Amino acid sequence: MSKTAGSILEATLKRDPHEVEFIQAVQDAVQSLERVIAKNSRYVNIMERLLEPERIIVFRVSWVDDRGKTHVNRGFRVQFNQSMGPCRGGIRFHPSMNLSVAKFLGFEQTLKNALSPYKLGGAAGGSDFDPKGKSDNEIMRFCQSFMSEMYRYLGPDKDLPSEEIGVGTREMGYLFGQYRRLAGHFQSTCRSDNHDLRPLSQKFIVIVAATVDVKKIPLLPSFLMLGSFTGPRIFWSGSSLRPEATGYGLVFFAQIMLADMNKELKGLRCVVSGSGKIAMHVLDKLIAYGALPISVSDSRGYLVDEDGFDYMKIALLRDIKAQQRSLRDYSKTYARSKYYDEAKPWNERCDVAFTCASQNEINQSDAINLVNSGCRILVEGSNMPCTPEAVQILRKASVLIAPAMAAGAGGVVAGELELNHECSLMHWSPEDFESKLQEAMKQTYQRAIKAATDFGYQKESPEALVHGAVISAFLTIAQAMTDQGSV
Ligand code: NAP
Repeated sequence: MSKTAGSILEATLKRDPHEVEFIQAVQDAVQSLERVIAKNSRYVNIMERLLEPERIIVFRVSWVDDRGKTHVNRGFRVQFNQSMGPCRGGIRFHPSMNLSVAKFLGFEQTLKNALSPYKLGGAAGGSDFDPKGKSDNEIMRFCQSFMSEMYRYLGPDKDLPSEEIGVGTREMGYLFGQYRRLAGHFQSTCRSDNHDLRPLSQKFIVIVAATVDVKKIPLLPSFLMLGSFTGPRIFWSGSSLRPEATGYGLVFFAQIMLADMNKELKGLRCVVSGSGKIAMHVLDKLIAYGALPISVSDSRGYLVDEDGFDYMKIALLRDIKAQQRSLRDYSKTYARSKYYDEAKPWNERCDVAFTCASQNEINQSDAINLVNSGCRILVEGSNMPCTPEAVQILRKASVLIAPAMAAGAGGVVAGELELNHECSLMHWSPEDFESKLQEAMKQTYQRAIKAATDFGYQKESPEALVHGAVISAFLTIAQAMTDQGSV
């Protein structure tokens, strides 16, 4: 790393030496920006400003369990940068949540949103609350307590939260209910239906949920009813793809990369980690493309089905996870599958890998396994899935990496598309929605590749997309920050 780029990292280390995840994210970004900074040293100052979040909110969340016992958790929201527009970013409920994780996620989201066609601000937050093993009423009381503090920082022109680890349709429903009660309104009305403008970001959307039988409608979304809170009414629609969008977007992105190499997903063996919202939608879409997804995982182990999953098998996996059972139970129905306790799927033979669990889920030895397993492309669903040592190994072995910043932009894209078009959403079929999502993913891919080649990286090099995504996002934000002066 050059002396100038190194100074940015040193300053971050000095200021927040214990924020391991945040420092790692900064290190990755600074590496990607080496050539940008070398060309123009004013970017050092912009980067230093960018790395200090605009606002950090840390608060107590006290809630009462079903036995009447009071518990205390910690809540976080990091509104990282709003120079591009109001913030947008996830809420994570997981015991490992802390300020460092919130800052790393907020920073990544800021870059991701700037790279997306919609150019919004970025935020992240959540709590160290563990929803596992809690009753619906406990989850509701926790969400209400969390929102009792958070609501004052949210709103049409401030910050729009979305799902993340441990937060799904149920939690978003409870969070929104409390938000609506305290804020006393349903947010702003539709300002424009011109999708080149930015009215989408002016609203708050919540998926209210109705799970349908995916066996019966295999190619349609598993959540078909959408409640978006826009204006003085609740809008119900049958055509939303918002919950599917991140997972679908990852597969679209992989297909776009492959198409650029005159290849396709069809027939490729795909290893997938995680078994949550993102992973399941990745499986759905891989099957639709004729690929062979063979694995899922969770915090307890991983499952491999050599025959590949189909829609029926995915429905079983969804049932198992919804009931908080072990993935091992799948083998009772499909005896040829294998479950491995406390292990990760990265040593399974594959062409493409999709990370859909958590940060740093691929360490040095996992990366070696992945290379030996034949993997040629790694698509990042989870943010920062690789440790720095793992990144080195994958690059050396020329494994192409699709960074979460670009490949994982589907959620934000769909949310914005939907909000932009809510007034006419009834006219959109899932196919319309998917083709718009595909187009947005293509634009994101092209923007990252262009920035990489502009700065001298070979399009085919394993780091091109990673560096290109950061460069494009950073230059966009840097321009906005420069235009807006020192604020
Ligand atoms: P989710 O529904 O809560 O599922 C998370 C999955 O990852 C679960 O299978 C979970 O296992 C597993 N997992 C979590 N932490 C783990 C760990 N430390 N080790 C091993 N497995 C772990 O979350 P999600 O929304 O699908 O998000 C998955 C990833 O995608 C996250 O990294 C998130 O940052 C990223 N992402 C999400 C969105 C979004 O819109 N939701 C958008 C962009 C990126 P258990 O079931 O055992 O807990």
